[in-house]
Amino acid sequence: MKKNIRVSEPSAEMQEKIKKARYAIANQKMRMVKCPYCGHNTIAVFEDSRGHIQAKCKLCGRETVFDVLNMRRLILRLYKEPRDNK
Ligand SMILES: [Zn+2]
Repeated sequence: MKKNIRVSEPSAEMQEKIKKARYAIANQKMRMVKCPYCGHNTIAVFEDSRGHIQAKCKLCGRETVFDVLNMRRLILRLYKEPRDNK
């Protein structure tokens, strides 16, 4: 399954953007969103993520469109319920 993919260093401008992005998420909470088909952690979502993301699962290869905000609400609700029962 080896593919010949040419990998080259990103341009200086792009490398700067990558550095900035890493710095921007350094203090943000990250959570993993699981593939709805196989349960594999497919994407990492940060606190400032908004909108829709399309991702391909590395494990089963299925592509899914995630609505990041909707899933956040869902996950927050799941986390909050047990605490409220204390
Ligand atoms: Zn999957």
